[in-house]
Amino acid sequence: MKIIIHRGGSEIGASCLEIQSGGGARIMVEAGSELEGEKARLPQSADFADAVFISHAHPDHFGLACGVRKNIPIYCGEITAKIIKTASAFNPKFGGGQIPFSVFKSGEKIRVKDILITPFATDHSVPGSCAFAIESGGKKILYTGDFRSSGRKKNALKFLVKNAKNPDALIVEGTRIEGNGSAIETEFEVEEKIAEALSAYENLPAFAVCSGINVDRIVSIFKACKRARRVFVCDIYTALVLLQMGSLGARVPQMTWRGVRVLSKGEIFASQRRALEASFETLGASDFRKNVYSRGISISLEEIAACPNKYLIKANPIEAIMQKCGMPQANIIYSMWEGYMDEKFDKKRRYAALSSRNPFWKIHASGHIAQNGLFDFIGAVSPKKLIPFHTNAPEKFREKYPDAIVGEKIINV
Ligand SMILES: [Zn+2]
Ligand SMILES: [Zn+2]
Repeated sequence: MKIIIHRGGSEIGASCLEIQSGGGARIMVEAGSELEGEKARLPQSADFADAVFISHAHPDHFGLACGVRKNIPIYCGEITAKIIKTASAFNPKFGGGQIPFSVFKSGEKIRVKDILITPFATDHSVPGSCAFAIESGGKKILYTGDFRSSGRKKNALKFLVKNAKNPDALIVEGTRIEGNGSAIETEFEVEEKIAEALSAYENLPAFAVCSGINVDRIVSIFKACKRARRVFVCDIYTALVLLQMGSLGARVPQMTWRGVRVLSKGEIFASQRRALEASFETLGASDFRKNVYSRGISISLEEIAACPNKYLIKANPIEAIMQKCGMPQANIIYSMWEGYMDEKFDKKRRYAALSSRNPFWKIHASGHIAQNGLFDFIGAVSPKKLIPFHTNAPEKFREKYPDAIVGEKIINV
């Protein structure tokens, strides 16, 4: 087989690989948009692909999938398809709302001409993430996608290692290869720290800043709310993502549960209501639409303003909600990658302003495997060739693995 690294070999973002077999099959793995820097575009060869495979529902992996020619099947997991469609309905820049994904199950083999692809569930900061074992002509490539070893689904990694050992090539994500240690690694620690933060300012209203599709994180926040006897209040989008994950069998907070309310009314949330009105039918969310405005589920800002320290709010914009509720201060829990606070992502410097005026906690566990876990993983998989990917520092792999393939666009396996 031939591996072509279109983008992602020396950056985090715009992931796109191509794999060609000796028998003339050609698949694309990921069609991601950039996180920063030059705008990503699909390679021309994508027009001639037999299929595209998407590992998970982060835009740096699926962001360009909407540009794939309509006659080419795009494969992803059921959860990934649901999240991409929902995220695209609420944020059109994701552009994946209309894609007729071909849905696979973890462990189920898919044949594309003489290539056999097996997806394996992994643990990452969005549900439904997969690694791919890619076989053809007696050779095997393992592509990890984004993954971690410290999440709630640890067994997934053991299963992957057991079933995909000794590949001819391992294409492995190296987001944290630089070894920037983090004080918080697990979701349980996140829950602990959030509970502590809430008890430190019992008299203040609280806000959580995190991705609506980081469902494991929402679970941690919800559990911390329970411990602090606070009601978890979220926006329509988060409530819908949670409902969909629940409908696929995940035990995650639902808007019908005690201790969960949804900000579905009021001017501030009008754009989310419009998105729901425009997409509920295609998303299969008619019942959700009926219930999300009902008494007992919907909560108004007036109700929150009457007793603000009873709630933790996961909704935006925080500043407008605070103003409308007459909150001079709030306890703010920032639970995303710290880099998003940098000026290049946060152009209006909102987080800098919020952190200067309010108690502000950074409580986050990465969705990516830490350096030591990564070394353990590579050791256990024991590949013949090691190809770093999804990393800003591929050369860092060479310190531990002198033969790691860095800077090559085409690799024969
Ligand atoms: Zn990711
Ligand atoms: Zn990624």
